[in-house]
Amino acid sequence: MNTKDIQKNNPWQRALRQLRAAVKRTNIDPLLALQLENPDRVMEVSVPLRMDDGSVRVFQGFRVQHNNIRGPYKGGLRYHPQVDMDEAKALAFWMTIKNAVVGVPFGGGKGGIAVNPKELSLEELERLTREFTRKIAPIIGPDVDVPAPDVNTNGKIMTWIADEYARVTGAAATAVVTGKPIGQGGSEGRTEATGLGGSYVLQYLLKKRKLDPKNMTVAIQGFGNVGLYLARYLHEAGFKIVALSDSRGGIYVPKGIESIGAVEKCKEKKGMLAGCYCVGSVCDVSNKDVIGAREISSDEILTLPVDIVVPAALENAITEKNAKKIKANIVLEMANGPTTLEADAILEKKGITVIPDVLANAGGVAVSYFEWEQNRKNEHWKKADVFARLKKLMDDATDTVISVSKKRKVSLREAAYITAVERIASSATPKP
Ligand code: GLU
Repeated sequence: MNTKDIQKNNPWQRALRQLRAAVKRTNIDPLLALQLENPDRVMEVSVPLRMDDGSVRVFQGFRVQHNNIRGPYKGGLRYHPQVDMDEAKALAFWMTIKNAVVGVPFGGGKGGIAVNPKELSLEELERLTREFTRKIAPIIGPDVDVPAPDVNTNGKIMTWIADEYARVTGAAATAVVTGKPIGQGGSEGRTEATGLGGSYVLQYLLKKRKLDPKNMTVAIQGFGNVGLYLARYLHEAGFKIVALSDSRGGIYVPKGIESIGAVEKCKEKKGMLAGCYCVGSVCDVSNKDVIGAREISSDEILTLPVDIVVPAALENAITEKNAKKIKANIVLEMANGPTTLEADAILEKKGITVIPDVLANAGGVAVSYFEWEQNRKNEHWKKADVFARLKKLMDDATDTVISVSKKRKVSLREAAYITAVERIASSATPKP
């Protein structure tokens, strides 16, 4: 990528342009607009680490607190070599918007460490997480800023953070992070929440358009926590999942994947999806001819002839280079920021419906809010109750975004941004 491309695909620059476009359509106080263009606080820390072999390395860590007008800063921590300040700023901003779109009482935050956690041992990962926690401890807390899992982070990592936070501050504070394991104060359904939430949003939109999901074909890029649960729930609802991919490649099964569970098991065994052709619960290479399946790359998956395509991996998956080739009628953005501005314009021109990330993937933070609420009240809700609350919240948010989009004659993304910016404005204390 040359410098121009990097600048163009810079997520923070994109976030700013999205914000300015939405602000133009509202009459919010220019001072508030300026506040939203500038994160409240950014923190960069260095995290020196002794490796298992005795060598030493230093990693860069980040936490961005974008805005807290509607409540404590809230958003994930990701461990990925691509993590940097501009990415964290954009992701924190998208959290501010997302939390306002689904109406949870949080602002936006995000952060992470520039590291490939797959190269670390479990002990190194724990030491890295604890050292990072010590560095950000002064600016997080249940009423201040509440981290959660994101790319390559999970419940175990959240437990280390909560534990280290308690050691540093001398006060146990379960609600300092969400996405914890159930035994450690986590909520039922948090693991499934992002995928399940996305399936609710999609089904609500289809119902509004009087479209039957039965046999609609779906291709999903990304088979981490989000892609996996989305695949499971859509399959259960009658959609035909024809393609799945992870960072190392994927499978295309035009007749539809019979069992997502079988593919999941196969991936666990092989360490990758490629080659996991499954008939019923039997996965092997010879099935390839029986069911007409083939391997595909994680780029090709986005341009398959399907009804719905789902980017559920990282930013900038759909760019001006592949947007023209997209054949689906609906793009369900389960990753954060998967579509560049140029690609967004191309998709709109082609009449493709883009269900924006700030709505589609908000199920995760919605259940994070339920977890935070349970922790504060010392309660533990049943899974069925969590799912019922999640459904209501996602349905309401989707309904609002669809009606704003109709009323204001704007895309679903713009409608989501307008809704969020106006909600933030109405929560703000006017400044002289
Ligand atoms: N990392 C998730 C997101 O991007 C969840 C954040 C949270 O639960 O706070 O929405």
